[in-house]
This record gives sequence, C-alpha cells and structure tokens, in this order.
Amino acid sequence: MPRVIDLGERSPKLRGVHLIVGEGLCSNIYVLGVEEAVLIDAGVGNRLNPVWPQLEEIGVKPEGLRGVAVTHAHHDHIGGVFRILERADPEVYLHRFDAEYVATYIRRLRLVDEGDVVETPLWPLRVIWTPGHTRGSICLYVEDEAILFSGDTVFPWGYYGRYNGETGSYQDIVESLRRLKELQVELLLPGHGGPIYRDAHRHIELAYRNAASKP
Ligand SMILES: [Zn+2]
Repeated sequence: MPRVIDLGERSPKLRGVHLIVGEGLCSNIYVLGVEEAVLIDAGVGNRLNPVWPQLEEIGVKPEGLRGVAVTHAHHDHIGGVFRILERADPEVYLHRFDAEYVATYIRRLRLVDEGDVVETPLWPLRVIWTPGHTRGSICLYVEDEAILFSGDTVFPWGYYGRYNGETGSYQDIVESLRRLKELQVELLLPGHGGPIYRDAHRHIELAYRNAASKP
C-alpha cells in the first residue's frame, strides 16, 4: 500500500501537508489540510493506488474533501479523481487545454488558467500555466512561503518533464522552465519522486539549463 509521509516533520513550512507516495507509475498526491482538505493530483486510482485508505489514514473524510487540483490530465495524475468522486463531491481544478482530454464527466469541474487562485485550508495556490509536458500543464505556487508544486513540469536534480507526448512541446517546456526559474522557490514538491526542502530554485535553474542546451 502506498506510504503516507507527514511533510510537516520534514519542514515546518509544510505543516498540514501529507504526501501519499505513488506506487509504480502513479503520481504523488499532496494532501493539504485534514478536516477541510484540498489535494494536488490524485494518482492513477488503480488497485494498487486506491486513494481512500490513505486519505482515511490521514483523517480526511469524504464530506471534508473540498477540492482536487490536477496538474495535468495524464492518467497517472487524474485517474484517482474518479475514485474520489465515487465517495466525495470536491471541486476539480484543471487547465482548460487539458480538460479537453477528459472524456468522463466531472461534476464540479473548474477550469483554471494563469494567475487564478485555488483556495486551500493552508494557503492560496497561484496557478502558473506551464505548457510543455502537456499543453494544459500547471504548477501551483505559494508565493509567501516559496513553495512550488510542480507536477511533471520540473523535477529535482535538473530533470524536467518529457515533451514528446501528444500535446507536448519542446519550445514550450523551455519557456515554462525559464519562467519558473524567475520565481522564488525554496521547496519543490514534484509529481513524482521526493520533495526538495531547501534551495529548490537551483534545481529549477539546472533543469532550465539542461533543457535549453539540448541540441
Ligand atoms: Zn505526465
């Protein structure tokens, strides 16, 4: 079963954030708050990653789940939304370009774009549109705390998202990384792999340099 990590034990800035670690080809799920909770990404939602047992372990109840912000519509991030909707009725935030690829009806879909704000029990999340991995990829930024939830756009250690998928674009991901490296980012919480708790801007700068210097 996927592990749950209390990220408040790793950094005081992340008090109230839990990470459900993705098993296999499943995204991380970040859980913000408990009685009132907002998720960032929902995982793949398969038999190995059923979401609800982990939410129960954290203490999140169906009636307290207020929202799910999905960084992009790849199935390893959005599949779990359909598990969640079997028992809860959260708002689901998604960029309009990636919403085109969701064939299944989502009851309370909220289309978001650059500069929109997703309210959470911890802090407001600013939507940064970062096309490249998919056309409708977003990152979610907590400006006051210099925290970036980066989906599959940028990963630690200079890695970045693949851009050769159906709606991916090399030019777009380089430009998105260029914009992200201008932000103040101390903590990086990626869609796969472990978070970075300090000096995360260095990881983003390295990812930008790696992407921009590709022949
Ligand atoms: Zn992806």
